[in-house]
Amino acid sequence: MSAESKKAHNFIQSLIEDAIAKGEHAGKVVTRFPPEPNGYLHIGHAKSICLNFGIAETFGGECNLRFDDTNPEKESLEYINAIKQDVEWLGYEWAGEVCYASDYFDQLYAFAEELIENGKAYVCALGADEMAEYRGTLKEPGKNSPYRDRPVEENLQLFRDMRAGKYQNGELVLRAKIDMASPNINLRDPILYRIRYADHHQTGDKWCIYPMYDFTHPISDALEGITHSLCTLEFEDHRPLYDWVLDNISVPCHPRQIEFARLNLNYTITSKRKLKRLVDEGVVEGWNDPRMPTISGMRHRGYTPESIRNFCDMIGVNKAGGTVDVGMLEHAIREDLNTRAPRAMCVMRPLKVTLTNYPEGQTETLSLPVHPQNPDMGQREVPWSRELYIDREDFAEEPPRKWKRLAPDQAVRLRGGYVMTCREIVRDDSGEIVELKCEYDPDTLGVNPEGYKPNGVIHWVSAADSVEADINVYDRLFNHESPDSDKEGDFMDHLNPESLVVLEGARVEQSLAEPRTDLPYQFEREGYFFCDPVKTEKAGKPVFNRTVTLRDSWGKGGK
Ligand code: ATP
Ligand code: MG
Repeated sequence: MSAESKKAHNFIQSLIEDAIAKGEHAGKVVTRFPPEPNGYLHIGHAKSICLNFGIAETFGGECNLRFDDTNPEKESLEYINAIKQDVEWLGYEWAGEVCYASDYFDQLYAFAEELIENGKAYVCALGADEMAEYRGTLKEPGKNSPYRDRPVEENLQLFRDMRAGKYQNGELVLRAKIDMASPNINLRDPILYRIRYADHHQTGDKWCIYPMYDFTHPISDALEGITHSLCTLEFEDHRPLYDWVLDNISVPCHPRQIEFARLNLNYTITSKRKLKRLVDEGVVEGWNDPRMPTISGMRHRGYTPESIRNFCDMIGVNKAGGTVDVGMLEHAIREDLNTRAPRAMCVMRPLKVTLTNYPEGQTETLSLPVHPQNPDMGQREVPWSRELYIDREDFAEEPPRKWKRLAPDQAVRLRGGYVMTCREIVRDDSGEIVELKCEYDPDTLGVNPEGYKPNGVIHWVSAADSVEADINVYDRLFNHESPDSDKEGDFMDHLNPESLVVLEGARVEQSLAEPRTDLPYQFEREGYFFCDPVKTEKAGKPVFNRTVTLRDSWGKGGK
């Protein structure tokens, strides 16, 4: 496993250290990451993954990957495979085989019978509405179900009949017999099993009753010998039920549930249910659309596992919650790519330049570093010729003040090449600028010109020796800071209409004819761009996804 060990100390780590110091914790630390396979993992899950695998690693323990698969209608093998791939890609290795809550269905069933036999669970026939009415409110206690005092034998028989398929969906449920007057609503005789005629991706049609999360989770933890069951804060109120379940059946151990705050990111949705809507309604191309905050979307956009793990380290783990600025995530990927990404030149909106004093048919090969601060990454060959492309946005006929690029009769340096001066503008019939005629200064390769000063440095490619490419310029998917908080409308009202702008016909330097697909490039002065292998294959020319801009220019009119 490759996760760095410089992880910041978090309160859960301290808790475990204290327990070890007091001799309370003799054995190995065992954690688990328990996704429900009802969607793809998102950046919020990355926090939980880094925490669970990180804690196990810190204490020389193990972390299981367990699918919490008790809702067959919403789950699928596609999600299971995607989740496994994402966890591995993040750089983590789960202990042994993948686990499934459904592996324990037989045992869960036996534990349910054990509860019934001990008078701690009963079969209830209240309908959903009545059940809600009997449950009471935060201010008022609930009322006992009229079925609460069924004899044990009758409960057992009914439960077996439920399993045998003698009842319809929703007709009966198994409930724990705890306390209808408890101030904690979760303890008011919660449902343990319900009837669902649904095929399960792991168990097929073996079952028509399925256990509830609050019953399944503590038992799965105990059966796997989990020592610390780390979950998000919304489960804090469920902890008494977690403990009740384990205290009332004969399980091998009693894991400790510890809660931490979910990750919320501004400009971002982190809910599988809502992300699924974006997919189902065709707002994005799929779960791995580079605009999605899913692990697979981020991978597709050019995020590295290192950057996501570093981000999770940066945000830390606590109980306070709050919202993290998505700028921090962008900072994490910039920081990682700045040190590692190979440099290249891409002219996104090409404008032809002819060097009138450079011999026709001649080319020369310039040698530029792959990374200016890292000579070990070597040099790349960049051809120079009479016809070049520069970016339209790097030329201004009437330059504003402090213009640091090309303008009539002004000189600029072409990055890694010569200095040139613009002498003439060529237009088409409609008056649009289609070409610039420039003069290059042959004495300026790697040295300053004599007697004048270039106005800046711009990037470029040789016209004939460059390669056409398409660029997907991705931006934030939402233009609202908390797309979820809109009480009147919903998050779909806050989609950023410019979250994807496709630039066709960009030109990349020759060394990118067959781009690498393992790491984004830094396109000089433009940002980081990741070659999309699938789209490249389809288009028959390189297609790049913009991972992130070079600087944080969001909302500042930057490109
Ligand atoms: P969602 O609402 O997106 O479906 P979930 O909590 O229902 O999220 P699970 O598949 O049950 O999704 O999550 C697996 C684990 O990941 C759980 O332990 C859960 O607490 C944790 N998790 C989910 N979302 C976040 C988040 N935003 N921040 C931190 N941990 C999260
Ligand atoms: Mg869930």
